[in-house]
Amino acid sequence: MGTVKSDIEIARAATKMPIAEIGARLGIPREELVPYGHDKAKISAAFIEAQSSKKDGKLILVTAINPTPAGEGKTTTTVGLGDGLNRIGQKAVICIREPSLGPCFGQKGGAAGGGYAQVIPMEDINLHFTGDFHAITSAHNLLSALVDNHIYWGNAQNIDIRRITWRRVMDMNDRALRDIVVSLGGVANGFPRESGFDIAVASEVMAILCLADDLKDLEKRLGAIIVGYRYDKTPVFARDLGADGAMAVLLKDAMQPNLVQTLENNPAFVHGGPFANIAHGCNSVVATRTALKLADYVVTEAGFGADLGAEKFFDIKCRKAGLSPDAAVIVATIRALKMNGGVAKEDLARENVAALIEGCANLARHVDNVRKFGVPVVVAINHFTSDTDAEVRAVKSYVAKLGVEAILCRHWAEGSAGIEELAHKVVALADSGKARFKPLYPDDVPLIEKIEIVASEIYNAGEVTADKAVLEQLLAWEEQGYGNLPVCIAKTQYSFSTDPTVFGAPAGHVVHVREVRLSAGAGFVVAITGDIRTMPGLPRSPAAERIFVNDSGYIEGLF
Ligand code: ADP
Ligand code: MG
Repeated sequence: MGTVKSDIEIARAATKMPIAEIGARLGIPREELVPYGHDKAKISAAFIEAQSSKKDGKLILVTAINPTPAGEGKTTTTVGLGDGLNRIGQKAVICIREPSLGPCFGQKGGAAGGGYAQVIPMEDINLHFTGDFHAITSAHNLLSALVDNHIYWGNAQNIDIRRITWRRVMDMNDRALRDIVVSLGGVANGFPRESGFDIAVASEVMAILCLADDLKDLEKRLGAIIVGYRYDKTPVFARDLGADGAMAVLLKDAMQPNLVQTLENNPAFVHGGPFANIAHGCNSVVATRTALKLADYVVTEAGFGADLGAEKFFDIKCRKAGLSPDAAVIVATIRALKMNGGVAKEDLARENVAALIEGCANLARHVDNVRKFGVPVVVAINHFTSDTDAEVRAVKSYVAKLGVEAILCRHWAEGSAGIEELAHKVVALADSGKARFKPLYPDDVPLIEKIEIVASEIYNAGEVTADKAVLEQLLAWEEQGYGNLPVCIAKTQYSFSTDPTVFGAPAGHVVHVREVRLSAGAGFVVAITGDIRTMPGLPRSPAAERIFVNDSGYIEGLF
């Protein structure tokens, strides 16, 4: 076996087509593309609006089992499946999130796929791309500046500075900024108070951009952001500070979806990137809707495992945007199944059919869960070179007993040629007309009940507990008119429970809601369980230490 090429080496060797040609294949005229260099473009708002009466294509979700820390290849499989569908003669587009800089320089690396299933230009997409995240960061921090400025100039809104909830953001893992004191330095600098930074992808502005219908809706939602509370506990909105117009101006270009291509020159929308814990973890509604107008099949990814990502995709994104998914692909790896069966991380490359079968309980639960939303399912086994035939056979026969097919996919090593079987199956599923999509709970049940329904139906929890203050807060929001919002549960991605070390398919566990937050502009109530950080830290040996520009001017070390 020859040496395995790194993702960035494969990406660099790709033959790219000019972005106008990729656009033309989707029927986007050159003048409706706003090019960012030769291989990236935004799509004009006018063009998008003009598509509204067109028929929608089929929507396919790619989700996964509870992962290993490296990720199980959802993005890789989304890209591979898009290429696979094009290979078998279908008109398909993929829709994924934009990567955040934090993980690129930390532990996880980039998020543009892997092996022979990537979107390119990989370096740009993983770094500054078209500047969307910088625009989001600026819009968020403009509001932060306006809050402190308002207080400095006399606080006409009577904001209780102890109850300001709006923090600052930047797109970097920087634990030193989690908790800070702002406005130090005397009279000229305002009123000192505690605050902190979150990573930009955790910003409500990010979630808003990804859920807004258009620029008008974006501005309205920005105005509805709650920045804090007055002394009488009434909420102070961004619009009360006159922030919404200027924030929308900063986001005007960021609102437009980005068009790029895969290694095999197929169209890909890469737009928006909210966290999958305190936000909903899907690419923008605008990108997905536009893709549905332009293609017959749209393949999209939801962050983390299906307990978080798919649930939020269905209950938040699809519910709010009126999308109706036609099929779902659950990505599983033999490695992660073994880990769910109790195998230690160091031993994942060794054959262990018994542990694998044990771990399949995790997959079975996810299959069951996705079916609860009325969406037909197929399992994709994302093949790693360490997988053995006996292991693959074991997963296939386990899954067959659930009435579902598991298909071995080699897109990482072979590109679209390795995923044809899955592509055919997905077309058959999506065209079968079997999907009867419905969200898990109705809009009009109390917020705590929504949390309980997700916990019992999706996590198989026995009980939801919460302090009195949390329950009172939920009731207060219901009285203020927010009771019909969906809930967005922040939970560890590694387990169905709130304990990241409990693998497999635990049942009867307790889900404790530690804190609740209202994202009034985005339109959901966040329930935080366990230890969830909104500003990650860097590991002992961050990837940043190995990233540099080589003598030929190429970036090395991004992965
Ligand atoms: P997710 O979207 O589920 O977080 P990614 O698709 O980003 O996962 O993949 C995570 C990492 O695993 C990437 O670096 C990717 O190159 C690598 N990877 C994915 N599939 C395979 C595979 N079949 N064999 C080896 N590495 C893979
Ligand atoms: Mg991903």
